[in-house]
Amino acid sequence: MGIEVTDLIKKYGEVTAVKGISFSAETGKVTGFLGPNGAGKTTTMRVLTGYTPPNSGKAVVAGYDVFEDSLAVRRRVGYLPENVPLYRDMTARDYLMYVAEIRGVKQRRDRALAVLNRVGLSKRADSRIRTLSKGMRQRVGLASALIHDPEVLILDEPTIGLDPIQVLELRDLVKELGQTHTVLFSTHILSEAEQVCDKVVIINRGEIVAQGAPAELRAELERGGRILVRAGGDPARLLEAVRQVDNVAEAAVAPDGLVITPVSMVNDPRPALVRAIVQGGFDLLEIRPVAVNLEEIFLELTRRSAGVAAPQQEVEVTAQAAEETDA
Ligand code: ATP
Repeated sequence: MGIEVTDLIKKYGEVTAVKGISFSAETGKVTGFLGPNGAGKTTTMRVLTGYTPPNSGKAVVAGYDVFEDSLAVRRRVGYLPENVPLYRDMTARDYLMYVAEIRGVKQRRDRALAVLNRVGLSKRADSRIRTLSKGMRQRVGLASALIHDPEVLILDEPTIGLDPIQVLELRDLVKELGQTHTVLFSTHILSEAEQVCDKVVIINRGEIVAQGAPAELRAELERGGRILVRAGGDPARLLEAVRQVDNVAEAAVAPDGLVITPVSMVNDPRPALVRAIVQGGFDLLEIRPVAVNLEEIFLELTRRSAGVAAPQQEVEVTAQAAEETDA
């Protein structure tokens, strides 16, 4: 059933937090909802959980309209908010039985144990929540989102504040849950979306700027994008030779070769580049598109949506560097 959002608008007074967005999330996939702070992720998620109505547009979650049938939606959605309101003096089991009671779940004891088991916490069932690590508490939150066996899981930045090992554990758990549920997973960490998600929806200032598989988005930007050239010979002469080639706007020295930026996205400059390099007496070792990661895709797409051209970057931003910046 999944999630289907069409032309959704949500305003807070004068502020339009979500400006007519459309996207979908399918069952059996983890869909990443990616965007910087204030992009509108939490607002959208709150609408999709049936807790706050949109101003206009449509959102169908697990087959029910969030506006017309919000109770049916709430029964089928598990929501992990950014800050999980846990009762710290309760044990994990008691807390989950309490959530089960609120949710009207039958056989609360069995269900509490089943979800604790699902998130790998059955051994800590009788520990008070305040004695659990942050990562474990986040898993209790996830267990509470699963208590009523929902088809759809909406997770708002679930890895924030966790240590690196806890982050990896939680990502694995989310990937596993994605195989049988519809999971919408928000993050502002680009490499995280690339690792966890089958599909990403990129939102910026309340607007969707792109959606698709991370690899598809990368391929789209690599087409007609920057080219990396590695060749043996005098580097200064090589740089000069490459700059003479038609359709080359800029050539810059990067750690692993020369990065060429074409003038136009339409004409592929590679055949002319290869000729110039070989005819110039250089040994051509490698010519390939510069690998684009989600970090670069995000910068490029948000710039495109703002109508500003992307600057030429000399060095690839690696996924790891993006992660370090975000951590
Ligand atoms: P973050 O990662 O920082 O949580 P986000 O992508 O989830 O960001 P939202 O929290 O949905 O973004 O916020 C989108 C916009 O709506 C922001 O400009 C924010 O200031 C505004 N906003 C959010 N909640 C409210 C509110 N209750 N009242 C007024 N404005 C709000």
